[in-house]
Parts: sequence; C-alpha cells; structure tokens
Amino acid sequence: MSVTVRMILDEKGRNVVTLGPTVTLGEAAATLHQNKIGAVVVVGMENRIVGIFTERDLASAIGRMGAQALELPVSKFMTANVHRCNEDSTVNELMELMSSKRFRHVPVESDSKLIGIISIGDVVKQRIREVEMEAEHIKAYIAG
Ligand code: AMP
Repeated sequence: MSVTVRMILDEKGRNVVTLGPTVTLGEAAATLHQNKIGAVVVVGMENRIVGIFTERDLASAIGRMGAQALELPVSKFMTANVHRCNEDSTVNELMELMSSKRFRHVPVESDSKLIGIISIGDVVKQRIREVEMEAEHIKAYIAG
C-alpha cells in the first residue's frame, strides 16, 4: 500500500501559513522566521494559490538587490507557476516531483482551495518509516 498525502496531513495537520502578494519581502522573511518554516504560500481572493515564496527566493532577492529588496512586494520574488498535489497523491509521486523539479515544498489543493502543504521533511520522515517497516517484515520472515 502506498502512503498518500491524505495520510500525512491526517497526522501533521492541515494548517498552512499564507501571505497576500502585497506584503513586503521583509515581512515575508519575518513570517518564515516566526513560524520556523522554509516556505509560505501566497494567496489571493478566496484563498486561491497565486505563488510560493521560500527561503531560496529570499536568499536570491538579497543576493541580487541587497537590503533594498526588503521593501518590495513578495509577489516580485515568488514563483507564480506553483506545482501542486492533491490528497490522493502518493509519497513516491512527491519524491519524484521534488527531485525532478528541485524544490522542497508542494501545496495540497482540493476543489482549487489550499488544504495543506507537504515539505521534503515530511516525505523523508514517511520514507524512513516505510523502510523501517520493510526491514521489520524481512527480519520476521527470515526468523519465522
Ligand atoms: P525550495 O526548495 O522549496 O526552497 O524552492 C526552490 C525554488 O523553487 C524557489 O524559487 C521556490 O519559489 C520554488 N518552488 C518551491 N516549491 C515550489 C512548487 N511547489 N512549485 C513551483 N515552484 C516551487
């Protein structure tokens, strides 16, 4: 049985930290820091996803423009073309997506509404659990 996004969200919760597109880069950085997270989803009307902003975007904004970037809107630095998944997506599909596209966060949608977010940390945690269970099964098989 493959582990689904629904199973991960049932365990970790469905809360997602979001921001509007007009908040400044400095406010977005403070939001990442205060929540101890690496990404925020940028939402517009009715909680629709309009972008994703991560610590990588923060580093490249500062690297490119210096401190003056902090006063500019986050919409200028976010990625607007967001890859999403749904609750039926599997952990294997997410691993494939994250490694081929080289990002570490995937928002979860249902009926075009944001209902969760999966990070590479969630995927790794789940994968370790699966490998441990497989090892236990093999040990039990050999012993029995
Ligand atoms: P990350 O590895 O998640 O910090 O993201 C690396 C880069 O990919 C940043 O420019 C992000 O804005 C972008 N990014 C992160 N997650 C996604 C996603 N689900 N869809 C599209 N771009 C993303």
